[in-house]
Amino acid sequence: MSQLKYCQGPRCHTYDTKDRKRGPKDNKRNETRRRSSFYYLNGNACSMQCMYDWFNVYGSRALQHFGYLTQPRVLTRDNAWRKRYDWNRDGNDRHYVYNYLTEEQRPITEQQYNNDSAVTDDGRLAI
Ligand SMILES: [Zn+2]
Repeated sequence: MSQLKYCQGPRCHTYDTKDRKRGPKDNKRNETRRRSSFYYLNGNACSMQCMYDWFNVYGSRALQHFGYLTQPRVLTRDNAWRKRYDWNRDGNDRHYVYNYLTEEQRPITEQQYNNDSAVTDDGRLAI
């Protein structure tokens, strides 16, 4: 059983397509698309157009709500870590963390690679 949800594009219903049409012949109307999943706007919009429509209406309000950057964000050697692996035909894949600024590599286990424990979301080494 999958939950249907509506596209969050504020103008979705204004795009005239067959799948948006509802109602009897003498009282046709277009409705917002409703699906179990969407690809755009982090799973909330049915198309790139609906995603842009959402941003045009709500984007600046979202920035006001969550706050504008008032100074540059900075990538330094401390937050330049990413997880990587080299696939190997014989099954001995090499997992490691890699620093984009220093090009340093440190081996990690496959378990550390898979459970996100090696690097934080903001690129800091957590091991
Ligand atoms: Zn839509």
